[in-house]
Formats: sequence, C-alpha cells, structure tokens
Amino acid sequence: MIYLDYAATAPVLPEVARAMNEAYGRYFANASALHTPGHLAMNEIERTRGLLAELINCEPEEIIFTSGASESNNAVMHTFEGCEIETSPYEHHSIIEVAEIYRGNKRPKLYSYMLANNELGEILELPCVGEDEYLHSDLTQVLGKMPIDVKALGLDYATLSAHKIGGPVGVGVLYVRKGVPFRPLIVGGNQEKRRRGGTYNTAGIIGFGAALKYMKDKKTWEIYDTYVRNLRDVLARRILAEIPGSSLNTDIVLGKSLPNILNVSFRAAEGESIQLYLDAEGIIVSTGSACASGDAKPSHVLMAKTGDAEVAHSSIRFSFGIDNTIEDVERVMEVLPGIVKRLQEISTIS
Ligand code: PMP
Repeated sequence: MIYLDYAATAPVLPEVARAMNEAYGRYFANASALHTPGHLAMNEIERTRGLLAELINCEPEEIIFTSGASESNNAVMHTFEGCEIETSPYEHHSIIEVAEIYRGNKRPKLYSYMLANNELGEILELPCVGEDEYLHSDLTQVLGKMPIDVKALGLDYATLSAHKIGGPVGVGVLYVRKGVPFRPLIVGGNQEKRRRGGTYNTAGIIGFGAALKYMKDKKTWEIYDTYVRNLRDVLARRILAEIPGSSLNTDIVLGKSLPNILNVSFRAAEGESIQLYLDAEGIIVSTGSACASGDAKPSHVLMAKTGDAEVAHSSIRFSFGIDNTIEDVERVMEVLPGIVKRLQEISTIS
C-alpha cells in the first residue's frame, strides 16, 4: 500500500504503540488518585505536558488535554457564546459549524484563523487583534510540519491533535494563554484544574508524549521542509506536465503552503472516482477532507479557494509523511494518468 493520506491521520508510530502498551500495564491507575500508582500515572502525564510546553513555547499550566482537536475547537467557541466570532473561510467543520451555534454580537470578539488548512495545505495570514479581542488558531495540521511558537504567533488559544503526528486518535490539546477567558466545555470533575472534567486518558497522553519525542528528536519539521517538500513538488510538476486538464489547488510556492499537502483537480473527472480507482491500485488518497466524505456538497474550502463547484468536485488530496519515497510518487504517476484519461473519456462534461 502507498499511503498518501497523512493529513487525515498518520499511522501510529512503533515508538507510540510500545509506549502505550507499556502504559496500559504500568500506568493504569486513575491519575487523579492520591495513591502511589495514581501519582506515577500523573507524573507521566506531566512529562508529556512539559515536553509539549517546551515545543510550542508556553507554560505547562497553559495546556489542557482534551479528546482531540474537535473538542478543543468546540471548547474555544463555547467560551465565546454570544460574542462576535470571526472565522476564516478555510476553517475545519469543528470551527465553522460550532461558530454558527455560539455566534452573537457582544464583546469581546474572537477570531479563529487556522495557520494552515487541512484540505489545501494553504498557509493563512493570522489577523492582528486589538483591545477586547482574542485570537485562536487551529494548528492541527501544523504540528510536526513547521516549528510552532504560540507566543511569537501572538495566540491566545491554540488547538492541536495527537493523531496527525503518529500519536493515538482521541488525544488533543487546547493551549489557553494565562489570563484569557475560558469556560469549560466538559464540567463535573477537578481534572485539568477544573478546566476539563473526565478521567485522564493516561495511555493516550503517554502515546502523544512518545510522538512528540520522536518529532523533537528527528526535528521532523526539517525533514518536511526539505525531503517531503521535494516529493510533493515532484508529484505536482509531473501531474501538471503529464495529465491534460490538471490544475493545482495548492499553491506550492515556498511559504504559501505546508510542504506535505497537494490538492489537485482534473477537468471532467470526479475526485471520488479517482480516489476509488487509486485505492484499487493500493494508493490511498482523499477527496477534500476525510471528515466531510459522504457529503455530496462540494467542500467549502475548495469553493472558497476556486469558486467553482466543478473544480471542487474533481479534486483529490495527496498528503505525505516522512516515510513516503520517490518510488511512491513514481508509482502514482504510473497509474494516475490512465485513470484520469479513462474518466475524462466517459465524462459527459467536456
Ligand atoms: N482541525 C483540523 C484542521 C483538522 O485537520 C482536523 C482533523 N481532520 C481536526 C480539526 C479534527 O481533529 P480531531 O480528529 O483530533 O478531532
């Protein structure tokens, strides 16, 4: 199998699986308990918190563990219930749909702008916020791909998720800058200084820690910036040169997109059909965002970018990880031109 859907979820790293396996045996106790096994479990949780704080340049107390990026995003929106909320048109559904629910017109105002988008990989400019205004950024796709400094970015809140870097699904983080408003989404427990109730997912948080350690030791952002960027760019250039009717939705110019995402459209060929034919060849890609699949509407992100439903429907997303090779790109280019050609030939659209 050639896996090119890392932006949807990355395979669990062997280091992570090992750490979690050990954790289930050794750190099974409730981490909030006052007994020794509880303390030992809590020490491990604090180790992950400390490592993450170091990696994103914040204080450990500014980190809240959640069940994933979706929950972190929901928690920020929930805090600003009834307030002005401005989001970029590229946000994930767990921002866009939740903003619809909570948006009002009182102050303070919340801005939610992701630093990089999951469907296009596009890097956005973050707004400058003024008096009585706060800035949240969903950094889910950025972790591991670029260095993150929440202070330098001027963020009040930031969202992260473990499963995009080879950690487990079901572990996320919300960074909440000291002193900014926060209203817990899940109440009913003292955990996380009363900011997020629920028994600790100790093994999951330990697994996240192992993924962060891997990221730090390998400096994965450097590998993405050089090696992975080259794979992505070779694929982009070959698609444009070898497949008639192809166009890039991702701007691959340096600094305009994450190095690992390539979104492409093929005139008169449906994205989902391409995806299925590639799947039959053992090549795994996605159409738009995996979270939106099964949804017949064109992706709101592709629509915001291209303004053209035809282009949006004919798009697929390749997303690379550091384990991909140039042979993977060559294999894609052995089969993709034929698949697109066949679909274009049977299409009623010209
Ligand atoms: N935000 C972005 C930008 C994402 O790419 C994703 C995953 N598709 C999420 C949020 C949701 O993450 P999680 O699965 O951890 O809830």
